[in-house]
Amino acid sequence: MKQKLLVNQIQNFSLHDGPGIRTTVFLQGCNLRCKWCHNPETWKKKSILSYTENKCIVCGQCMEVCPSGAQQIQNGQHIYERTLCTVCGKCVEICCTEALEIVGNDYSVEELSELLLRDRRLYEISEGGVTFSGGEPMMQAEILYDLCSRLQEEHISVAFETALAFPWKAIHRMTKCVDLFLVDFKIFDNEKHKEYTGTENTLIKENLKKLVNYRPIMIRIPIIKGINDEIENAVVTADFLAALGKNIKSVELLPYHDFGVEKAKHVGVNQQMFEAPDEKQLEQLKEVYRSRKLNVVE
Ligand code: SF4
Ligand code: SF4
Repeated sequence: MKQKLLVNQIQNFSLHDGPGIRTTVFLQGCNLRCKWCHNPETWKKKSILSYTENKCIVCGQCMEVCPSGAQQIQNGQHIYERTLCTVCGKCVEICCTEALEIVGNDYSVEELSELLLRDRRLYEISEGGVTFSGGEPMMQAEILYDLCSRLQEEHISVAFETALAFPWKAIHRMTKCVDLFLVDFKIFDNEKHKEYTGTENTLIKENLKKLVNYRPIMIRIPIIKGINDEIENAVVTADFLAALGKNIKSVELLPYHDFGVEKAKHVGVNQQMFEAPDEKQLEQLKEVYRSRKLNVVE
């Protein structure tokens, strides 16, 4: 059987995931666990059931159709027992309020490339293309290699948003079919990086040093108040990036937002609330990057 891609969402007319007008494909699966993640529903590399409590009218229809007893009504309250769920989708079909939804759908390379090529005229006139994001697209690199190669044959520009926490061999392979990398760089200090993302960053830094020799890179840094908004982190990060040379095309500082907290609840994840940095602090951080002659995205 041919492998399929597990897609979280496809966003057309995207203006923030690389140059021009793009289609952004968000994929399921991530090997990091950033505590502030704004897409926690993409963490698992499998389909999951999302349950939105405030849409539920406690009608009990889902309980009637669920073959595994995962949906229950007790004392007038709806209870979804995730550990019993086999993600068969029967309750999704019957729920009239859309409180239940399957997250993560399968696409073959053929299906997805056909869909992405529909907007080729838009990509051409805007010098845009297709961006793969996530989650972490490297989690599905094997099959994405075929899709990206196919898009390149059609002269569609391909961008890849990744945290680079993978063996270099796998990343190097993707440089053959990806034109631009959007690299999410979180925190410079290795210990702190591990504390807040669950993964060390030594490999990420090593991969970045190699990747600049192959493809242009746009750096994206989420800024979270009290976690990585101190000047010291910006100074060491900016020095590191500036030393990598001309293929670091831009640096974008992305202030924290709390969208992930609510989305996490729907998929059974507890997410801590953080704060966005102060405007003034953000401006000072940008100045650190500008002072190293890095192109800061406004
Ligand atoms: S079918 Fe939907 S609205 Fe009805 S109890 Fe189940 S989740 Fe709630
Ligand atoms: S997806 Fe299937 S197993 Fe899971 S709660 Fe719904 S009906 Fe039950």
